[in-house]
Amino acid sequence: MTGLAGLTTAYLLSHPDTANGRFDVTLYESAPTYGMSAGDLEVPCGCQRCAATASAPKKPSTPATTTATAAADHVQERIDSPLRLFSEGYYPTLLQLYRHLQVPIAPVNFTFSLSTLTDKGAIDPATIVTTDIVRLTASLSLLLPTALIRPWSQRNMFILMRDKLRMSRAAAHLRATRQLHTVRGTLRDYVAQHGYSRAYVDDLLVPTLAVAMSATRDQVLDMPARAVLDWNARIPVRNTALTVPCGVAAVCERLTQFLGAEQKRFGESVRGVRYRRESATYEVETARDTQTYDLVVLATPAEITARLVADCGAPHANDLASVLAHFGYDPVKVVVHTDTQSVLPADASHVRGVVVSSNSIETMATIHVNALRGLPTHCPVLLQTTNPLVPIDPKSVRGEWTFPRVRLTPAAESALDVVPKLQGLNGLFVVGSPMYPGIPLLEGCVGSAVDVAGRLGVQRPWEVKPGEYVGFDPDRKEPWVDAFYAGDLAVKEPAPRSWVRAVVRSSAVAAVAAIAVHRAGWTASDVAEWTESLVAAWTTAVMARWA
Ligand SMILES: Cc1cc2nc3c(=O)[nH]c(=O)nc-3n(C[C@H](O)[C@H](O)[C@H](O)COP(=O)(O)OP(=O)(O)OC[C@H]3O[C@@H](n4cnc5c(N)ncnc54)[C@H](O)[C@@H]3O)c2cc1C
Repeated sequence: MTGLAGLTTAYLLSHPDTANGRFDVTLYESAPTYGMSAGDLEVPCGCQRCAATASAPKKPSTPATTTATAAADHVQERIDSPLRLFSEGYYPTLLQLYRHLQVPIAPVNFTFSLSTLTDKGAIDPATIVTTDIVRLTASLSLLLPTALIRPWSQRNMFILMRDKLRMSRAAAHLRATRQLHTVRGTLRDYVAQHGYSRAYVDDLLVPTLAVAMSATRDQVLDMPARAVLDWNARIPVRNTALTVPCGVAAVCERLTQFLGAEQKRFGESVRGVRYRRESATYEVETARDTQTYDLVVLATPAEITARLVADCGAPHANDLASVLAHFGYDPVKVVVHTDTQSVLPADASHVRGVVVSSNSIETMATIHVNALRGLPTHCPVLLQTTNPLVPIDPKSVRGEWTFPRVRLTPAAESALDVVPKLQGLNGLFVVGSPMYPGIPLLEGCVGSAVDVAGRLGVQRPWEVKPGEYVGFDPDRKEPWVDAFYAGDLAVKEPAPRSWVRAVVRSSAVAAVAAIAVHRAGWTASDVAEWTESLVAAWTTAVMARWA
């Protein structure tokens, strides 16, 4: 059970400063190594120039460096499968954990292209929409559709942008006015009720979420609308995608630094957990032996946890098992390969960090590792495709894995509201990304671990920052999931006065516009011309809609 949720729980409960030796932790993992890094792959680059760099003496590395691109670093390219990304907006608790652990964190070149597959499985060039990063200053960049920068280059641009901005504005408003939790129903209901265009829903919204969730079109549309709105509100366009450039094995090592080798039982699948009423203890059974513990924290995927809990015989365990049964999973295939012919657009100018192609049901995403991580152009291309919809040349495959991925539905969200009532009864706890509100991602792993540690009286060994999960509160009465969307589970920022906010906001907008115009080398007449064509196109689109 050494995904990020299990590892973080083990770290918090074994930390000498905060847990004070109160817990003697043992980790069980069915895989031969940490579950979180089980898909690690070392790919020798093999190009002459990198080989030369490798033989040169290396500079000593610092723990919290933010450069992912130095050539010497990637001679033995370590790539995580799946390559997981995160960002400031949606992952405040994860980021504080990584910073506390001094794990290297680096921005990636997160641009993407979206396209539709033809019946024969080829990317239809007429459907390609691409995005690019516009760097305004050293620290401020925006991810924009290429069409916004070159408006003539892509179809449906104005409709896509109009609806994208509309959803972002609606999401930000609902979040700022603390009404997000009142939005009920699925994304499908929401986009229909609010008249979002098919172009936006089918060509932009669904494919991007399908990538984030490794999901089909229907699974995306069946997600709770408020989860998607919350995601939209917290991932503004200026947000930079981040990764751990040295691979998440470093995270696993640091999270288990207080455990001895005998406390990490790799390759041992837990076959059963049995509650002993007379001693109020649990027996944990593997193929090797049976051990007895006072407390059990299950950090397995919820569907496996449900099975283990259902048979354990503890009071309330069946209630917990039936709640967990609401979390459905699907297998997700991840292939690391070099087959550029099958999964990339034929025109290299359409290739981006993430290449997303969909048919009417499913979405395939290919991470172009070189483009995403900004590797030197002379290195051989390495690709990571999730849910391939086209055959990949077997000779080009470097590794292939299948992972379970949880589905977020309104039913699963309702079930999650019951989990806090059952957590810890008779010493039985559950953690994992779906055991925390919102889209089940790495933030949920850390949030759920912090919650369970808090229930056991253990606080975080780092300074808690605004935005992070507030932690377990025994006096909290309102439903957990509603409280999350209402913003009540996040540590509050001290609010600036409203007039200060207005001045800061308008100065920032004016400064950004001025820098953009200056950077682009535009003259006043260029600006006037561009504004005029934008207004004309917008008016045409609005008139067409009325007509
Ligand atoms: C393709 C893909 C891409 C993703 N991309 C991102 C991303 O970019 N950003 C992001 O934030 N999230 C991403 N995610 C989601 C993220 O990876 C998960 O939310 C997270 O890893 C879940 O962690 P967990 O600890 O809850 O569970 P898991 O990682 O599933 O850990 C459960 C562990 O339990 C072990 N186990 C299972 N059964 C037993 C047993 N009987 N006995 C002992 N051990 C057992 C498993 O081997 C595993 O190690 C992605 C997921 C996938 C599949």
